[in-house]
Amino acid sequence: MFKKVLIANRGEIALRVHRACRELGINTVAVHSTADSKAMHVRMADESVCIGPPPAKDSYLNIAAILSAAEITGADAIHPGYGFLSENARFAEIVKAHGITFIGPSAEHIRTMGDKIAAKKAVGELGIPLVPGSDGALSSIDEAREAAKAIGYPALIKAAAGGGGRGMKLVEDESQLEQQLQAASQEAEAAFGDGSVYIERYLKTPRHIEIQIAADSHGNVVHLGERDCSLQRRNQKVLEEAPSPVLTPEQRAEIGETTRKAIEGLGYLGVGTVEYLYENGEFFFIEMNTRLQVEHPVTEHVTGIDLVREQISIAAGNPLSFKQEDVKIQGHAIECRINAEDPKTFVPSPGKIKEFHAPGGLGVRFDSAVYDGYDIPPFYDSMIGKLIVFGDNRELVLNRLRRALEETVLAGIKTTIPLFEELLDEPEFQRGDYHIHWLGEWLARQEEET
Ligand code: ADP
Repeated sequence: MFKKVLIANRGEIALRVHRACRELGINTVAVHSTADSKAMHVRMADESVCIGPPPAKDSYLNIAAILSAAEITGADAIHPGYGFLSENARFAEIVKAHGITFIGPSAEHIRTMGDKIAAKKAVGELGIPLVPGSDGALSSIDEAREAAKAIGYPALIKAAAGGGGRGMKLVEDESQLEQQLQAASQEAEAAFGDGSVYIERYLKTPRHIEIQIAADSHGNVVHLGERDCSLQRRNQKVLEEAPSPVLTPEQRAEIGETTRKAIEGLGYLGVGTVEYLYENGEFFFIEMNTRLQVEHPVTEHVTGIDLVREQISIAAGNPLSFKQEDVKIQGHAIECRINAEDPKTFVPSPGKIKEFHAPGGLGVRFDSAVYDGYDIPPFYDSMIGKLIVFGDNRELVLNRLRRALEETVLAGIKTTIPLFEELLDEPEFQRGDYHIHWLGEWLARQEEET
């Protein structure tokens, strides 16, 4: 096992990784920007190194500074968390070249999955069902027109290098094609330095269902069931649950096994998530994330498996601590992403937390790095905590969620807690009867009414 792990991240995920390391008897090194010198992840770690000024490009994305920190402190592995450098193949390569273990898959797998066109091709060949669409990148408007005709309208133009919902444009009919093609390509070029785009069928009422997988270096590949992340705003997840309210055990076993086999075929190592859209009983692959995900805790509570512990252990060369037949989905779990944002306009609301009280009690977990008096810096993501609630069944979990939200005190800033409280009153949400566009439509209706 590793002796010292450098955590190349901040916020709740840096703490999550620190906790797993601690329980494994591993020392931790925190890295931080000058804006984060008082952050909780810095306070908790055994050692800390300042790696630059506040903008992420100068600190949390600064590969040279992070590597220097690892060398100075003698870390034998680096955990990238999610976001920042977690899906940067070059970073994984450089870490390895310095004789340090990157806690994640090979650079080659990160690179393939980071290019959604290459990813579709790779997993399609291994039996994973795809969203119907163009075979590769679109090189001309004529090619786009042909492809769109074959799949039908509405269609969605997507960036090969896409992430965070950027570079995605809806095309309702042919008259919009040229303009949207250009817009998507320009947005992708600006955001990712790669303007390659492709086109897919636009699914009107799908759910987002993703399969968690874990693979070790001893040939064991397992799936840990699904997470339903259909509650989204602007293609970004807002709330996640496991199991999905709509899948039967047979469907779960089938898509789980299809995914497991494909991952085995890839020769993948580490934890990862294969994301699908699900409509009318059919699954369609959209992408694979080669890292730990924000919503991993819901899987932890329905399986009883510590995913971060397994992830670190796999990277150290150990076999998974369980087999496929040991994975039993029990009970229900829901995660709410609590953002420091206005709950109506979603405008970020950084600033000082004047009073803080975390929810607790049976079946409640609050993963966050905030504390009483903490000053949320304006430079980073607005997610300041994840409220994860679990119990025997969905109905109980919804009641538990309501009381946990009521208990939470985050004074001095605006948060998205009131949004979740309102959603809990919605019969469609209560029934689990929602798809990826449902929240957007609901928010538009709320706005009209006020
Ligand atoms: P990103 O990497 O930018 O997050 P994804 O491919 O993971 O992009 O898609 C993000 C979200 O966008 C999905 O969860 C879904 O809500 C929506 N989306 C993606 N592809 C389609 C599609 N073909 N039809 C409808 N919605 C889609």
